[in-house]
Amino acid sequence: MTYNIGVIKGDGIGPEIVTEAVKVLDAIGAKFGHQFNYTQILMGGCSIDATGEPLTDEAIAAAKASDAVLMGSIGGNTSTSPWYKLPADKRPEAGLLKLRKSLNLFANLRPAYLYEELKEACPLRDDIIGEGFDMMIMRELTGGLYFGERSTKEENGQLVARDSLTYSETEIRRIAKRGFDIAMKRRKKVTSVDKANVLDSSRLWRKIVEEVAADYPEVTYEHMLVDNCAMQLVKDPGQFDVILTENMFGDILSDEASMVTGSIGMLSSASLNDTKFGLYEPSGGSAPDIAGKGIANPIATILSAAMMLRYSFDLDAEADAIEAAVKQVLKDGYRTIDIMPRDGSNVKQVGTVDMGTLIAERL
Ligand code: NAD
Repeated sequence: MTYNIGVIKGDGIGPEIVTEAVKVLDAIGAKFGHQFNYTQILMGGCSIDATGEPLTDEAIAAAKASDAVLMGSIGGNTSTSPWYKLPADKRPEAGLLKLRKSLNLFANLRPAYLYEELKEACPLRDDIIGEGFDMMIMRELTGGLYFGERSTKEENGQLVARDSLTYSETEIRRIAKRGFDIAMKRRKKVTSVDKANVLDSSRLWRKIVEEVAADYPEVTYEHMLVDNCAMQLVKDPGQFDVILTENMFGDILSDEASMVTGSIGMLSSASLNDTKFGLYEPSGGSAPDIAGKGIANPIATILSAAMMLRYSFDLDAEADAIEAAVKQVLKDGYRTIDIMPRDGSNVKQVGTVDMGTLIAERL
């Protein structure tokens, strides 16, 4: 099969880590007989330098014409880069927000997986880590409190601020369906997180999730209050498979979940709409402090490419192969600087390019 992939290398370490993900995709193509065509798309600071805009209409059109987009990261040093002297809507991050909006990317997926070899980076106790954990946080990305009406007004001689939290049946149903679909590709368990003991929006969330669950008899599901979920994530993270939740709860819980896995350089992510299209990117930023040094960890981007194969192209065996190759490289003792153990014993430190090559070689 032939797949057309939009590639946004972006700024800072973006070009370095994306190059390694493309190397791994090409190795997958050769092994499994697929053709991946790449279209380079400018976004972020590099687009500002070239066109004066963080994202042009041509770039949006190129992204829309792709089967999926693989991205590095955008932005520079927010204190020193001239990009941050520009008005807010001309800065690098405005490009990403515009892209997410133009592509209607309402579902954000962030896996939190603990590698046996990186257990040392996990801040939890050994007895809590147990057999390790492997969960997917599925966060609604375009509704809820962050997109509701807001105001700050003087009332009765004092300032009063208001934010509104709105969810429609349609918004809940489409993310819930995505969550159950993803669970079908995993261990078939969904934990839907809300605050139904207080919020109307959560009670509607619960009702719609139950309706959607009826169409997925193979998936076990449960409801959990968000405060309890925050505790359970550090008490017994192994109990979770897919955590399905609204925008603000997902924002907070996904950071909590990713913290317990260790390095930012290992964390992939995907943003999906209601087609097979997705935007796949590492959870970290452009790391201007290490850009150009050849030491950035490309694994999060490589794992994001694996997510692209799984969720946009339904190439599960190919995605499994990449994930297995990453595990093997760690098992073989190779580490980038961000995941080096404290004592540095029994492992070998490698740079960005070597890490990409080592993973590609293990496919
Ligand atoms: P950051 O994630 O870029 O860096 C935080 C720390 O993590 C740094 O010490 C960095 O060296 C390290 N790090 C990040 N990715 C790494 C990797 N792959 N390998 C090894 N170490 C890694 O966050 P920041 O410094 O707050 O932001 C820098 C820039 O990135 C800003 O302009 C910010 O707006 C932008 N940003 C972009 C995205 C995106 O493109 N989606 C996301 C977050 C931040």
